Amino acid sequence: MGIDLGLRAFFTDSEGNTVAPPQDLRKAERRLKRLHRRLSRTQKRSRNRRKARQALSKAYLKVQRQREDFARKQANALISSHDLIAYEALQIRHLVKNRHLAKSIADAAWGRFLSWVRYYGTLHQVPVIGVEPAYTSQDCSRCGQRVKKSLSMRTHLCPGYGLLLDRDHNAALNILHKALQGTVGQTGTDEEVSSNASGQPAATRRRTATTRKQAG
Ligand SMILES: [Zn+2]
Repeated sequence: MGIDLGLRAFFTDSEGNTVAPPQDLRKAERRLKRLHRRLSRTQKRSRNRRKARQALSKAYLKVQRQREDFARKQANALISSHDLIAYEALQIRHLVKNRHLAKSIADAAWGRFLSWVRYYGTLHQVPVIGVEPAYTSQDCSRCGQRVKKSLSMRTHLCPGYGLLLDRDHNAALNILHKALQGTVGQTGTDEEVSSNASGQPAATRRRTATTRKQAG
């Protein structure tokens, strides 16, 4: 099974099934936004500021626990019903550059999810393969022809056969094909994923991303 991680659907698999993003994470995201605003309105070194900071870190901890729970359950379900899992190895690193809160929360959820997929894969001897992400959403999963599309285009239309697919379903098929063809990208992506899956609060990770950007 190939899986394509996204924001619209948490992931879309190569049979076209989708898993919805966790609702409680969305709620938590709104709450975090509110708490961030509250913190920014308080005066430095004030009692209110300390309280706002405590509320924010407590909310982050809750998000982390929910994320972990969701990631582990989804990973277990995926591994227990398939013989091979293929995913885009570099996807998270690209997306983590985006510093919006919604995405940073999703990034961390994907990171934890993939860590659990690999963990259960090893446990149940199901191969988990990371493939190069290049052109997985552009190429036709049926004939291989490159069909350029903007991010807003949600469907894929094969010019040769008239095949119409959901964009992410087409991508998931390409991801699976790449894995089966043995065009395996970096399988040594554990380091990369774990660095995003360390369970750090998003604020810390965002700072790290900024630092990296400035350094590079
Ligand atoms: Zn085609």
